[in-house]
Amino acid sequence: MLIEQTIEQISRILKERLQAYEQKTGDLCSPAGIAGLEQEIWEASREVGRVVLEKRLQALADEHDGRNYSCACGMTRHRKGRTPKTFVTCLGKITIGRCYTWCPKCRQGSFRFDAAIDWRHVQSPRLRSWVGLCHQAEPYDQGRQLLAELTGIRLSHQTVEAITNAIGEHLRTVESNHVQAIWQGAEEFPQGPEKLPPQLCVAIDAAKAPCRPDWRDVKVATILVGGHERLAK
Ligand SMILES: [Zn+2]
Repeated sequence: MLIEQTIEQISRILKERLQAYEQKTGDLCSPAGIAGLEQEIWEASREVGRVVLEKRLQALADEHDGRNYSCACGMTRHRKGRTPKTFVTCLGKITIGRCYTWCPKCRQGSFRFDAAIDWRHVQSPRLRSWVGLCHQAEPYDQGRQLLAELTGIRLSHQTVEAITNAIGEHLRTVESNHVQAIWQGAEEFPQGPEKLPPQLCVAIDAAKAPCRPDWRDVKVATILVGGHERLAK
């Protein structure tokens, strides 16, 4: 019911916003007019999603924090008042109030809702995966611009660096576990390609490049796969 009321309220605001845009735009039936309309609707849809997500997560947090929890020692945990935390999601920033629960005997405490949804970071898991996608082939600054252009979300250089480093670390762990499992016989060696190329050429070279604060080695590997005719050229 809360969500329906929220959507109804936002729908009215959106309608007014779109009407205001159409009134101030002289020629709506022009490339610039339609592009602006598309942008207005996209931004408005994102705002609706952001508010709905915030309301829904707050309702879930309230329901979760309303339960009684037992500590490992058997005592019932006490609740301290709500503490707000702001998360950055694909839809924008949302703020959720969660209860801190603690044990008077062990003096241990935690935000149980954070642990339940597994949002250990300030950014939502989905946003972190989008950051990873935008930086697969792009340097930090270009990746940040791409993310901002596609989603409207602007993150600092440091945040992007921290997220991509964490993703890289996770992938290294997954790969290392995979290799170990193969060596220990728990997994089969991956199958090679069914059809082998007639020739495979690999060339590796390195050069020094100026990278602040000093010079670094830049390694270049070229892999060429092809038939005899192509390689002969
Ligand atoms: Zn305890």
